[in-house]
Amino acid sequence: MVTINDNYRKLKAGYLFPEIGRRVNAFAEAHPEANIIRLGIGDVTEPLPEACRAAMIQAVEEMGSRDTFKGYGPEQGYLWLREKIAAHDFQARGCDIDASEIFISDGSKCDCGNILDIFGSNNTIAVTDPVYPVYVDTNVMAGHTGPVKDNGEYEGLIYLPISAENAFTAPIPTQKVDLIYLCFPNNPTGAVASRDHLKAWVDYALAHGSIILFDAAYEAFITDPNIPHSIYEIEGARNCAIEFRSFSKNAGFTGTRCALTVVPKSLKGKAADGSEVELHPLWNRRQSTKFNGVSYIVQKGAEAVYSEEGKAQTRALIDFYMENARIIREQLTAAGIQVYGGVNAPYVWVKTPNGLSSWDFFDKLLQVCNVVGTPGSGFGAAGEGYFRISAFNSRANVEAAMQRITEKFTA
Ligand SMILES: *Cc1c(COP(=O)(O)O)cnc(C)c1O
Repeated sequence: MVTINDNYRKLKAGYLFPEIGRRVNAFAEAHPEANIIRLGIGDVTEPLPEACRAAMIQAVEEMGSRDTFKGYGPEQGYLWLREKIAAHDFQARGCDIDASEIFISDGSKCDCGNILDIFGSNNTIAVTDPVYPVYVDTNVMAGHTGPVKDNGEYEGLIYLPISAENAFTAPIPTQKVDLIYLCFPNNPTGAVASRDHLKAWVDYALAHGSIILFDAAYEAFITDPNIPHSIYEIEGARNCAIEFRSFSKNAGFTGTRCALTVVPKSLKGKAADGSEVELHPLWNRRQSTKFNGVSYIVQKGAEAVYSEEGKAQTRALIDFYMENARIIREQLTAAGIQVYGGVNAPYVWVKTPNGLSSWDFFDKLLQVCNVVGTPGSGFGAAGEGYFRISAFNSRANVEAAMQRITEKFTA
């Protein structure tokens, strides 16, 4: 019989969202009249921008004619899209990033996992706690960790706890770490990193020969002009950071699928024989071998994000969600609940009142207000005592949920 990748058996059962579903279903069955509002989703709710739809419709028509039909595109993505991204997302912010360093993909989630293909198996890996679970689980699958411990952490990973006490920014480690996952603006905490904080990480990475894996999926939600959108706004980051970006949250592409990864040509890693090897050709080889590119139609839709209309329409989408976030923050604060995030990110990170556990607060909110959110403890042990509320929803749902909380909730 074939053997399996035993690392998969180390994975904790996907616990968080099934458990939320179980509790919500049980409540709904017992109270069929309850109108439950879900503010727990990490998915967008508003339709695709008109400019993106128009570009994709035109691309579909091109595919229907022999002269304009497209077969396989470049594995790295079409140059016209990579050049727009380089100019608008990076060079316009003073980042020295060239189109040839940008790889188009069908998602940041897969890129975050796939990037491990080009790294060795003996690296020391650090993640924040709480954390986006993809970073952890992909390292478990790749055999980079030991078994899971009682507290839900994996042996061999370094967890950097983030909480209100450190403004949800991880302290720079004292030990040597090779790969560091950072996500700003952060899912789940909604926190952002100042220029100084990112500079401290870049300086650390340059001093230790580390690589920062920087997830900027929510950069478009930054409203504060002093907060960097890209790690490459920090001097030296070209020599120590890979950045992941996605059209999922800024342009509503969660179901359309387009993202990008930046691998600067100046990045290097050490080979077994001690020589220094560039990472860019490795990722290029990895993508060319295992990936055949994103559809022409979808890349045309992504390109439209950079047109005048596309920029205005994506800005309006983001403003819509950020107004939801403002309503959530203000109403919860008025209800006497301490909130964080939600200013430069579509997530509000709630401190559970009266020392309630994340799950006790979940149950109370469900039973008293019929509102569903996400228990912070589901994102890591240090998320205990916190709760995530998402701004991805209709205005009517957000307003109704907040009205119920201000009227009915008492901790
Ligand atoms: C939504 C999200 C992404 C984007 O993933 P896609 O695969 O591009 O849809 C990446 N990172 C984080 C932390 C996210 O929440």
